[in-house]
Amino acid sequence: MKIVLLGPPGAGKGTIAVKAKEFYAIPHISTGDLFRNNIKNETELGKKVKTILAEGGLVPDSVTIEMVKNRIAEPDCKNGFILDGFPRTIAQADALAEMTELDAVVNFVIEKDDVIKRLSGRRMCPSTGRLYHIIFNPPKVEGKDDETGEDLIQRDDDKPQAISHRLEVYVEQTQPLIDYYRGKKLLKDIDASKAPAEVFENMKEALK
Ligand code: AMP
Repeated sequence: MKIVLLGPPGAGKGTIAVKAKEFYAIPHISTGDLFRNNIKNETELGKKVKTILAEGGLVPDSVTIEMVKNRIAEPDCKNGFILDGFPRTIAQADALAEMTELDAVVNFVIEKDDVIKRLSGRRMCPSTGRLYHIIFNPPKVEGKDDETGEDLIQRDDDKPQAISHRLEVYVEQTQPLIDYYRGKKLLKDIDASKAPAEVFENMKEALK
């Protein structure tokens, strides 16, 4: 199954993708995680995109498309994949359509206020990318990853100024993909305001 998770930052795409990856036994490809790994490993790509990510802007389409094209050509994607955070522009969606045929696009529907609450309380394990929320999904020990015990961090782009920029970028560049995929009869709307277990159940139902 080849699916795209669409929705604003903070809608819970990453959290649900981790569940979906186990359930459907297909890889979870998060372009945000791929960029963050490049930044952490100080690769050429990482150096190029570091400031863009910190400010909450979009990496140029050509760079992002190339990265995804290479990733989905890997053998583990032969039975499908879950794309999380890609496509984010119409140009990316057109490029993806040339690379492969999708089965569905799951649209995470959520109010802006909920997104702001989720993003501002979000914390991440720096080495695994595991996500928490200080109120909705706290770690067992405050400030520490449940498995590695590492100190959790707040992503630079989860700080207030970057959050508002990311939301503007979403409305301008990514939201048009809702109509784009609805027009192609691929879109499945799900209510993303609920707790993760319920959102995931609804997604499974929508994908049946
Ligand atoms: P995310 O983890 O999906 O919120 O992505 C974090 C950041 O990575 C975004 O704010 C962008 O700077 C960059 N990024 C991730 N996916 C894309 C994409 N498809 N196109 C352009 N930039 C992206």
